[in-house]
Amino acid sequence: MKIMVAIKRVVDYAVKIRVKPDKSGVETQNVKMSMNPFCEIALEEALRIKESGLASEVVAVSMGPPQCVDTIRTGLAMGADRGIHVEYPDALYPLSVAKLLKALVEVEKPGLLILGKQAIDDDCNQTGQMLAGLLRWPQGTFASKVILDKEKQAATVDREVDGGIETLSLDLPAVITTDLRLNQPRYATLPNIMKAKSKVVKKYTPQDLNVEIKADLEVVQVTEPPKRKVGVVLSSVDELIDKLKNEARVI
Ligand code: AMP
Repeated sequence: MKIMVAIKRVVDYAVKIRVKPDKSGVETQNVKMSMNPFCEIALEEALRIKESGLASEVVAVSMGPPQCVDTIRTGLAMGADRGIHVEYPDALYPLSVAKLLKALVEVEKPGLLILGKQAIDDDCNQTGQMLAGLLRWPQGTFASKVILDKEKQAATVDREVDGGIETLSLDLPAVITTDLRLNQPRYATLPNIMKAKSKVVKKYTPQDLNVEIKADLEVVQVTEPPKRKVGVVLSSVDELIDKLKNEARVI
């Protein structure tokens, strides 16, 4: 079985986000970019499944400007076998990404798709769900545990929901999106970084995949959130209750 993993290039999680002076978006020039943390978890899970003998190949896919190849190389250094880059100069919204991934599924025929539950730049949390809908495949989102059964061709997925853990059984092929507690992604070792340089990265354009990219969202303005007021340290619970009652008037 082949596993396809979608990895997005985003502003590094440790970077303090700055809004562009013209408020058209977030500053990405001269800013450290990295693989989206939930995508690292997705790739780690695919690699563990392969290492347990339940998959034969892990293909890492990234979509966007030419620099996405750096993110794919990171994925290859972590252990992915091959990369696919769908090159597009602008930001891609979830529905376009889902359509492109669907087109790649038709070419690659994977038995399992693993995505991050959300990208930390747009925080959309939509791509996996849209992709499963387009493919009419079962979906297990926010996975905190994944167990594959080769004979039954099924996956058992524990997912984190408001009330606790929900367990789903999905027939394969399926779409899984990963939550934070699923695993701890590995670091790429120096020998694997060297090896990754010779792994294949295939390039497509949306036209090659017969997908028309439509901007279905318009960004009107991006602004910083209002500055938070300085907090106060209270000396007792009684003082807290007094403030909640008489100042905030919430109890
Ligand atoms: P989102 O729906 O934008 O929050 O993204 C959820 C997941 O979809 C990400 O964690 C990735 O696995 C995948 N994804 C979204 N955009 C891209 C992209 N441009 N390239 C590769 N994967 C993507």
